[in-house]
Amino acid sequence: MKSETNILTDNFGRHHSYLRISLTEKCNLRCTYCMPENGVPLTPKSNIMTADEIFKIATVFVKHGVTKIRLTGGEPLVRKDFSKILERLSTLNIKLSITTNAVIVDRFIDNFKASGLQDINVSLDSLQADKFTFITRRNQFKAAYNNIILLLEQGFNVKMNVVLIKGFNDDEIIDFIAFTKHLPIAIRFIEFMPFDGNNWNKEKLVTQAEILEQTHAHFGRQDVISLENEANFTSRNYQIKGYKGTFGIISSVSNPFCDSCNRIRLTANGNIKNCLFSNQETNLLEAYRQDKNIEPLISNLIKKKYAVRAGMTDFETLNNPENHTNNRSMITIGG
Ligand code: SAM
Ligand code: SF4
Repeated sequence: MKSETNILTDNFGRHHSYLRISLTEKCNLRCTYCMPENGVPLTPKSNIMTADEIFKIATVFVKHGVTKIRLTGGEPLVRKDFSKILERLSTLNIKLSITTNAVIVDRFIDNFKASGLQDINVSLDSLQADKFTFITRRNQFKAAYNNIILLLEQGFNVKMNVVLIKGFNDDEIIDFIAFTKHLPIAIRFIEFMPFDGNNWNKEKLVTQAEILEQTHAHFGRQDVISLENEANFTSRNYQIKGYKGTFGIISSVSNPFCDSCNRIRLTANGNIKNCLFSNQETNLLEAYRQDKNIEPLISNLIKKKYAVRAGMTDFETLNNPENHTNNRSMITIGG
């Protein structure tokens, strides 16, 4: 399946076996870095993929070598037919996973178990309720936190995404790592990324070097163990000696992982996107609804993928806000 002619293999030989499907543009939180303050104009419901369309389009990707599908959003669990979507996708020969803000996760434990879904990424940017409310603009810390503990108790593989923003939560890096002492959780510190309307600037980035400096100073360099990278890794992982969990650093902005990128994204309105930083998209849903073959559309977009960050190879280009004004915010891409 991994040949040069495979529609999911790009001009740099990268085979895209990992599909991230955004189920909805809606969310029960309003994270400042993800959702512009005034919200996003929502796509009319008639142009959002139905459960059946998600399944059929995903099947085309699986036929060409996708082996892993992550459900995301918006908040995937707010979609009314979430259980139906999960049930159908679980019939495909793939590894299923989900990214969720965890606020209503407790309602879906049985569905996850029935579908065989074990890998759950949750997002929590502060261990302090007031800061959580500030960043998410919603008072849901308790629900999210308790549900993360519930997932661990229920035996799921839990990774916790923490978007680090200088001056907001970089003072909690040690607290997050301390959280891994007794809990088998993988914390992933994520660099704040630029999207249309999210007030990004490079001064707000917390770099890998800064994270490690704090960690070494607190725990002692000899007790910070560097772990082996996974295949197609996006995070560099570490563990404090004797701790149950781990922590990792995802530096998509300052030190991207483009060389081994195997991801392709399908937005809730049926557009594919070949890179998180790219504003180029191709709509598959319309073609699918017109009974057209969507394979050439997928192939074309994959072949247009740049080697690095949608062509923004240097930091100066990336740092120019004009280069992000046409890129959707994360809420509508699906992180
Ligand atoms: N609602 C779910 C959640 O929050 O986990 C899934 C969708 S959310 C868009 C997926 C991930 O993208 C979250 O972990 C979130 O923190 C991350 N994210 C959103 N905007 C981001 C940004 N500007 N920079 C870095 N990560 C971002
Ligand atoms: Fe919602 Fe997730 Fe975006 Fe926060 S990061 S607004 S929870 S989609």
